[in-house]
Amino acid sequence: MIEIDGSRGEGGGQILRSALALSMCTGQGFVLERIRAGRAKPGLMRQHLACVNAAAQISDAQVQGAELNSQAIRFVPGTVRAGEYSFQMGSAASCCLLLQTLWPALMLAPEPSRLRLTGGTHNPAAPPFHFLQRSYAPLMNRLGARAELALQRMGFYPAGGGSMTVELWPARLKPFDLLERGKLKVCHAECFAPALPRAVAQRELQALGAILGWEPGQLITGQARQNEGPGNALLATLEYAELTEVFTQFGLKGVSSEQVAQALADELQSYQASKAALGPHMADQWALPLALAVERTGLAASYTCTEITPHAQSNFEVIEKFLAVRFVVIDRDGGFEVSAEPL
Ligand code: ATP
Repeated sequence: MIEIDGSRGEGGGQILRSALALSMCTGQGFVLERIRAGRAKPGLMRQHLACVNAAAQISDAQVQGAELNSQAIRFVPGTVRAGEYSFQMGSAASCCLLLQTLWPALMLAPEPSRLRLTGGTHNPAAPPFHFLQRSYAPLMNRLGARAELALQRMGFYPAGGGSMTVELWPARLKPFDLLERGKLKVCHAECFAPALPRAVAQRELQALGAILGWEPGQLITGQARQNEGPGNALLATLEYAELTEVFTQFGLKGVSSEQVAQALADELQSYQASKAALGPHMADQWALPLALAVERTGLAASYTCTEITPHAQSNFEVIEKFLAVRFVVIDRDGGFEVSAEPL
């Protein structure tokens, strides 16, 4: 039984989700204590509990402590079953974080799976759907884990009501190095602001265009579907030869359009000031699938990133508990190079 201290490093929900994913992939049970001790309201919140329950369902797991506000859980997986599943997050909790919890286990199953997920698709502090579709899924595909993601309806905090479907095929993992971005091919910004006056999206896009010097053709007002929203997400997509990065900021009551645009421009410019391949979010999310590929093939692989966040650090620690892989981080060109090495 693997023992994990949920207060280490970042001390957030990602430690739990990575432990669930790796437990299902390796068949090793775990006990996680001090769940989300680094957060103002520690313990299992609704969105974390939804991940535990969905993981238990697909892997026929025995679970203790799966209750709201629980500070500890014990999770022992059975056999992962691929197939058709429908999971409702309830409220606006992130479908995308649930998908990242289930994806590694389902891709290692011998049959394909089809998921329908409802809840939040564009949440602050979680990967938005467009990030998963444009940035994460293509890299997973290159790693040998093919998937197709489709968005039926956007769901924002707090109303939720979003919906997405995902098809996952059995993976043949092959690690690869991701050290450079390659040439910038296309960049554009989109504002999705369903159920808000059209002028809100236009102001955010204009402000962003003015800061970055982007042309009107690069500034796109997203179309809303019926009864979607309310919500306000400003996205910038940078498509390079080797990867695509998506940056997102959310508009909030009391925050001006110019402030939202400036926050996004700051994120983008700090990424563009570096030569490293992955931005700060992808850098923590890429560690787990890459480590699985490294362990399964016995081949080392590396990536460069602009930042090593506390999220990335605590993810490395959790992964090293489950897999015979170690992470080595070195400074490189003002950023970092992360190597996942088989033990
Ligand atoms: P908690 O409630 O404990 O803070 P959580 O379950 O909401 O935790 P975190 O532990 O904070 O989640 O993990 C959030 C994950 O979402 C991280 O992998 C982070 O990189 C990712 N993430 C956050 N914002 C973005 C974004 N704008 N684009 C892509 N990924 C993001």
